[in-house]
Amino acid sequence: MANALTCTIPKVTGSATRPPGARGALAVRGGYVITMDPAAGDLPSADVLVRDGAIAAVGPSLTVPSGCRELDARGMVVIPGLVDTHWHMWNTLLRGMSESGPGYFRLTGRLGRAFGAADMYHGTMLACAEAISSGITTVHDWCHNVRGPAHAEAGLRALGEAGLRGRFSYGYSAGHANDQPMDLGGLARLHQDWASHSGPALLSLGMAWRGTGGSDPAMRPRPEVYRREIDTARGLGIPVTVHACGPRSAVGQVKALADAGLLGPDLQVVHANCATDAEIGQLADAGAAVSVSPFSELLIGYGLPRTTDLLAAGIRVGLSVDTTALTGNADMFAIMKVTQGLSNALAWDEFALTARQALGLATIDGARSLGLGEVTGSLTPAKRADLVVISPAAPNLGVLTDPAQLVVTAAQPQNVDTVIVDGRVLKHGGALTTLDAARIGRDAQQALDGVLARA
Ligand SMILES: [Zn+2]
Repeated sequence: MANALTCTIPKVTGSATRPPGARGALAVRGGYVITMDPAAGDLPSADVLVRDGAIAAVGPSLTVPSGCRELDARGMVVIPGLVDTHWHMWNTLLRGMSESGPGYFRLTGRLGRAFGAADMYHGTMLACAEAISSGITTVHDWCHNVRGPAHAEAGLRALGEAGLRGRFSYGYSAGHANDQPMDLGGLARLHQDWASHSGPALLSLGMAWRGTGGSDPAMRPRPEVYRREIDTARGLGIPVTVHACGPRSAVGQVKALADAGLLGPDLQVVHANCATDAEIGQLADAGAAVSVSPFSELLIGYGLPRTTDLLAAGIRVGLSVDTTALTGNADMFAIMKVTQGLSNALAWDEFALTARQALGLATIDGARSLGLGEVTGSLTPAKRADLVVISPAAPNLGVLTDPAQLVVTAAQPQNVDTVIVDGRVLKHGGALTTLDAARIGRDAQQALDGVLARA
């Protein structure tokens, strides 16, 4: 089935990408290294040695093998790659459009129906280019416009070509009928043929589930439908993600999942803004993870995230972009900063959530929430080499004080000098090295024009 599936999508990549290239030995030298590994802490002048895509060593004045590529990071700050935990990457094609019409859900539902597979590719690729440019090395592509196998394959292809790490969660489609299950056969085939689709083995498969209703009142499937969907995913042994308790009208959705016996450590709940204390307890008891997306929650009117309450309950929490149709951009630095600000404001406490804790949410905690805590999220030997080098050259930085606070409150995507994913340099000197950003932008505009003309 995989071959037939591959043949159904037109070749749309063009010259937007160059192969990410081989992973040679690589040393990032002399930076201020924030490892986010409690055993190692911060290293004010240290090297990160990378071999075969993995971190071989972190420390001062390391001896590097002959022929090793060396990147000078003196005066710069080195952090683990940033981790997004929920992002509808396909609708990056609709960036900044949620006010153009009847609001986010109806807009994406209406225009999503006009997406062809190539449009899924171009939207996802634009999101990938933005992720890399902004220092995001791991994404959770919450793909809820799977209008056929080719649509899923197109999104996956963009992720694979871009060289990002992440989870691809196969979902339903915009405007999916509530009495019809999502394409569970397509999910099972993708799972079976995963090796032929997962590109450079950095991607894993999940299921994007409507659950008992999600955030969109128009998307409430019948119990026999949503139960069949989650049972299929669990039968395949893949993780599940669901929107729950985002808007005030969705109160009780976590309780409904708990009462139905559907919570579990394989389930990621997105938002949980209107979750009660009892529901937070139910999430914690079940070992479920939560993804918080403060900018989309603020802009769509979901109230305020309960980040510190979730953390206090021992829940694995990650931060997320959600959708640039609402948020405009995928700036994880700003997401960290607003998460810290909202947490402190709600607690009437300057230190309810520190900058370092916010950085943890966007690195190691986010990785753990996706089940990738042993793979990425900290600069720890034997983990895969996902790291970001931040240059202080621009006026919005300019001095080196508390590096963690600078990263969270001062840094912006424009300060990202170098991005390395799995040992491959995808951005260097402030420029993407494997993606043609201008071409990707032109292709995305052309794709959007086509979607609008057909919608
Ligand atoms: Zn979402």
